[in-house]
Amino acid sequence: MKVIVMGGGIIGVTTAWYLAEAGHEVTIVERREETGLETSFQNGALLAPGHSQAWASPSAPIMLLKSLFEIDPALRFRLRTELSYWRWGLAFLRNCTSEHYRANTLRTLRVMMYGVAELHALRERTGIAYDGNDNGILYLFRTEESFAKGIAAWSLLKEHGLPLETADRQRCAVIEPALRGSLDKIGGGLFAPADGAGDALLFTRNLAKLCTAKGVTIRLGTAITAIRCEGNRVTSIATDKGELVGDSFVLALGLESPRLARPIGIELPIYPIKGYTATVSTEGYADAPTVGIIEEDNLVAFARLGNRLRIGGKAEFAGYDKSYTPRQFRGVFKVAEDLFPRGGDYEHPTYYACLRPVTPGGPPILGPTRYRNLHLNVGHGAAGWTEACGVSRAVVDLILGRKPEIDMEGLTLSAS
Ligand SMILES: Cc1cc2nc3c(=O)[nH]c(=O)nc-3n(C[C@H](O)[C@H](O)[C@H](O)COP(=O)(O)OP(=O)(O)OC[C@H]3O[C@@H](n4cnc5c(N)ncnc54)[C@H](O)[C@@H]3O)c2cc1C
Repeated sequence: MKVIVMGGGIIGVTTAWYLAEAGHEVTIVERREETGLETSFQNGALLAPGHSQAWASPSAPIMLLKSLFEIDPALRFRLRTELSYWRWGLAFLRNCTSEHYRANTLRTLRVMMYGVAELHALRERTGIAYDGNDNGILYLFRTEESFAKGIAAWSLLKEHGLPLETADRQRCAVIEPALRGSLDKIGGGLFAPADGAGDALLFTRNLAKLCTAKGVTIRLGTAITAIRCEGNRVTSIATDKGELVGDSFVLALGLESPRLARPIGIELPIYPIKGYTATVSTEGYADAPTVGIIEEDNLVAFARLGNRLRIGGKAEFAGYDKSYTPRQFRGVFKVAEDLFPRGGDYEHPTYYACLRPVTPGGPPILGPTRYRNLHLNVGHGAAGWTEACGVSRAVVDLILGRKPEIDMEGLTLSAS
């Protein structure tokens, strides 16, 4: 079977890999000059099933309203005029009940845990390198009060299979010795030993090379302009370099997916939520953290990638604007310097800002559409690196008529 995968981000490349492993003829179509240059370029780098809580929660509406009046909030809600924003926003609010929160969180947990398991299996088979570690993630709370709330909030994940250890201050410093000097600044932590970290871009690029070696064609610098259909089948895609035909098609265009799907009658509820990341060198810094850290009170994440430290944070409703200035990283670096004063070369960071492709409830949208030979692998929000291998394996199983290893309840377009 000849399959065309639209999009060369981490999701498109993993999808292509599983198709090629199953012996199919695969072409990836990517508009940029290389794979992984959009959201997958410099993300938070954490493999974090321990952070699968849905953003749409009973407390989210108040939190977002409050952010309208704060100066540099971790979550920044802004009123916007686009219709797609209001449509998405209303769907988000509908997902803020405790029932929806619970269901969406458990779906995301299921997909993220499967993602990490499949990533490890793929690594085992291929030996792929991605500056990764399996050192776990410490979810860190700054006060006794936020720690107590954290224990309550994380119990849902623990009850549903996430390995999790409650750690008092002293134990936090044993898990992450770089915290030794900051014990008076923390209330406690929750440690997920099976979580990890790794460079999503390096993984995407190295997997793209393995794909090429397996015969996958990667058409870079090729922008898709339309999806062509006849009846209930997709026949081809139009690109700026001509028409491409195939037997089967996968939509994995990240944030651009709704724009290409709308003209063929598929509405995808995906909206951008902006985040900021910085990478610093840890060369010569003995006190850089080696386990992943998410400081939960300010939502700042730390991921160790070999001799680099990725620091990320913030969630802003900024439309499709990806611009950034060093000023916007002040809050993130304030937390870094406070917790890990000798954690890396904070004077010379590499900055980046990118947009999470977020669905109103949180879980991705996977699998079948009204077109028999068009499948979706979209809407991975803040979890696409963690989910990539799991979602792509499941979508490929669906394309090939096999039953996915995970329950697909709530993960398909009909559920959105
Ligand atoms: C700040 C931030 C921090 C994050 N941190 C984490 C984290 O710690 N852990 C985690 O698991 N996830 C994290 N994520 C989420 C993760 O990065 C994303 O979910 C994931 O990268 C999405 O991958 P994708 O392949 O769907 O999208 P993309 O990487 O954006 O890929 C889509 C591709 O499609 C191409 N494309 C678009 N339109 C066209 C067209 N018309 N023709 C041809 N090609 C086209 C684009 O050029 C792009 O390469 C984070 C995201 C952000 C923004």
